[in-house]
Amino acid sequence: VIEVVALDGDDTLWHSEPHFVVTQERVAELLSADVDPDTLERELEATERRNLALYGYGVKGFTLSLIETAISVSDGRVSSEQIATVLRWGRELLAQPVELLDGAEETVRRLSEEHRLVLITKGDLFHQETKVASSGLADRFEHVAIVAEKDPPTYARVADQLGVAPSAMVMVGNSVRSDVLPVLELGGYAVHVPYAVTWALEHAELTLDGPGADRYVQLGSIRELPGYLAELSRR
Ligand SMILES: [Mg+2]
Repeated sequence: VIEVVALDGDDTLWHSEPHFVVTQERVAELLSADVDPDTLERELEATERRNLALYGYGVKGFTLSLIETAISVSDGRVSSEQIATVLRWGRELLAQPVELLDGAEETVRRLSEEHRLVLITKGDLFHQETKVASSGLADRFEHVAIVAEKDPPTYARVADQLGVAPSAMVMVGNSVRSDVLPVLELGGYAVHVPYAVTWALEHAELTLDGPGADRYVQLGSIRELPGYLAELSRR
């Protein structure tokens, strides 16, 4: 029986990835004299992958990786003016108003009437706290966990803090890698609600032919979540 419903934030409750995509396109335009967009994308992805263990997730690490990539793809020709522009776009990303996904607000309200709700999100601590606060949804959650990585030990720790077994928890999110696989591994339930765009570093293959297949579902919209949870409780 499900005791806790856990929700992801970025691209599950509010839009996030498109802002990064737009910023990357602007940087590609800014550096178009030095590098073509495909090379920039490839180099940026390699830089982010390399830096992830040091910077963690979020806008600040993204901005630093953009600058590092700009220096390397331009062979050091990028100007301080161009770097200042990238820094400004990074600050704009951090100041971007929170825009909820369609159906997120009413679904969270509905779910909070019947379930213990928690929010589990990763990224810059301060930025995530700001987004949670300005989402207008904070009061609906019993607990907000801002974590460095979404792996099985992290989910086990959150479940432990809430005093529930992972098998009594369902995690809902847009990332197979971060929201689905680690929770299934722990014996919990997972709901994948795909978002229009997925960050390269979040790509993961989901092949479910063994244990866990009956604890996983993909929904087209977060609006379908209350119905699925009702169905789960009837099983
Ligand atoms: Mg997400």
